[in-house]
Amino acid sequence: MKIANHRTKIVATIGPASSSSSQLKALIKAGVDLFRLNFSHGTHEEHKAVLQKILALNKELNTHIGILADLQGPKLRVGVVQDGGIPLEEGQVITFTNEEGIGNAQKVYMSYVDFAKDVKVGERVLCDDGKIVFEVIATDGVSTVQLKALYPGILYSNKGVNLPDTDVSLPCLTEKDLRDLDFILTLPVNWIALSFVRSADDIHALRSIIDSRGHRAKIISKVEKPQAVKNIKSIIKASNAIMIARGDLGVEVPIHLVPTIQKDIIRKCIQWARPVIVATQMMESMMTNPSPSRAEVTDVANAVLDGADAVMLSGETSVGKHPLETVRAMNRIMKEAEKHYSWRDKRPKINRKSSTFLSDIMCVTAAETAEKVRAVAICGLTVSGYTAFRVSSYRPDAQICIFSSSSELLGTLNLVWGVRCFLYDKFTTTDGTIEDTISILKENHVVQVGEIVVNTGSMPIEKRFRTNMMKISVVE
Ligand code: PGA
Ligand code: MN
Repeated sequence: MKIANHRTKIVATIGPASSSSSQLKALIKAGVDLFRLNFSHGTHEEHKAVLQKILALNKELNTHIGILADLQGPKLRVGVVQDGGIPLEEGQVITFTNEEGIGNAQKVYMSYVDFAKDVKVGERVLCDDGKIVFEVIATDGVSTVQLKALYPGILYSNKGVNLPDTDVSLPCLTEKDLRDLDFILTLPVNWIALSFVRSADDIHALRSIIDSRGHRAKIISKVEKPQAVKNIKSIIKASNAIMIARGDLGVEVPIHLVPTIQKDIIRKCIQWARPVIVATQMMESMMTNPSPSRAEVTDVANAVLDGADAVMLSGETSVGKHPLETVRAMNRIMKEAEKHYSWRDKRPKINRKSSTFLSDIMCVTAAETAEKVRAVAICGLTVSGYTAFRVSSYRPDAQICIFSSSSELLGTLNLVWGVRCFLYDKFTTTDGTIEDTISILKENHVVQVGEIVVNTGSMPIEKRFRTNMMKISVVE
């Protein structure tokens, strides 16, 4: 059941404002396609309870809402400070230390043991989303770093720290992440997001842990470091999907670069058939207000027009005052924007040298044919999900209807632009499968008698090859 028929997907972060079964159900009905469990907050038990509610709702509503577990990664923070905040004057000097303790106007703890070793004089240290900017004036190379405040402000307890100029030596998977991952891999999550990715090696490290546990979760790399922007091509290739994590990215790179970085990454992801999520501050003002700002409406519409697979809500749905209204408003913006774009000149080019060249051609041909014959649906049966990613990257006008015997895989594919998921666990002939899929679409009112459907498939069926054939049918 796809309740809201926007083609760009909505990812919603769950938190106290949305974790009850009735709230989750209302969010699904309003158009959420994937729920995000943010491991920066909450306990393992809380996340597991939410996951179980989502699985139960999928059964009840006959949906395939996916689940994303987001690892915190090496997020740096200052410790607790006296009176909750330290007023800083322009030019004031303060020491950051790796020894734990309550901070004061002289000395503040930061959760990064090798900071004094890794940082260099002249580098910038940004706190609280860049509201506080320091310059490093000295380091003892062991435990303390002297910082000069460049502007007046208040340094509050537990605020995040970004080091855009520093080569941070921390691994992408921290001890906390490894503990969280150990737990996450006992659950049927569809996607795992890796924060502060810098190179493809970070993704390989996570992949080998997932594989060693025999889990099928796919990896979303969060692009939020300048190094990731620099290594974007190899990161996209090594990942299953990308999140443009504009919160940290907007602090780590000069913020005026974010819009063009967003457009460039989306274009590359479509070319490589990797789903791409635009995240953070999309509907930020709806955390308190019942309607979005002009800038937010334009931002969401632009993400759709750029071709993003999905847009993400963070605080808006996890702790905001109006989670449901936010999703509804987002849905309206997306549907309107979707009426106005054309993909004709922007479609991905197929790479002749790719090991998947022949099936890529088949997927693209199916999409092109669907356009020529004005088919209402392109159907594909998938074991790996490959067909869904590839057909979607063409951004066809026809509905992309993906059938699989694995409800877990369908939850994964629910993130992908335009993909509608259907459980199909019969194993019969190619002819029989085509007939069955078309009747399922009829039952679900996706197609009607007389309309045209393009089926992709693989022959011989028992070999489970990648897509290698296509058939055009008229619905009877
Ligand atoms: P976060 O990631 O919410 O986990 O920080 C998103 C972002 O940085 O934009
Ligand atoms: Mn982030």
